[in-house]
Amino acid sequence: MNDDNCIFCKIIRKEIPATIIYEDDLVLAFMDAMPINPGHALVIPKEHDQYISNISAEAAARMFEVARRIDSSIRESGIQSDALTLMLSDGEAASQEVFHTHLHVIPRYEGDGVRFKYPNKPKELLPADELLKTAGEIQKNLKGL
Ligand code: ZN
Repeated sequence: MNDDNCIFCKIIRKEIPATIIYEDDLVLAFMDAMPINPGHALVIPKEHDQYISNISAEAAARMFEVARRIDSSIRESGIQSDALTLMLSDGEAASQEVFHTHLHVIPRYEGDGVRFKYPNKPKELLPADELLKTAGEIQKNLKGL
């Protein structure tokens, strides 16, 4: 379950310090030491796995519930946040840098300079048959939910 060399597993085992804001049997939340904006927090499962699809449904659900509560708490705090971004990069090509799944909770405000951009090509409407084909690929693995 745990990975000896994983920095987030070391935080879970309290081998390295972190500013922990929430902990229970399934998840841990702490302040990002290199925040995009003040208040930037991370929510991680106590299970070590790179991908959210490999962790238990209970831990994944708890991650989002804790992120939702942190979001709400930031909105009620004095931390500058006109909005928040919840972000999870699920793999290296999606800019994942620590290979223990983690959900970012990032306070946002007008003019903060943070951008999550589409590639530099014009957005275009896909034909319905292409959308249906892609939707079908996804739906076949959603059976049984
Ligand atoms: Zn880990």
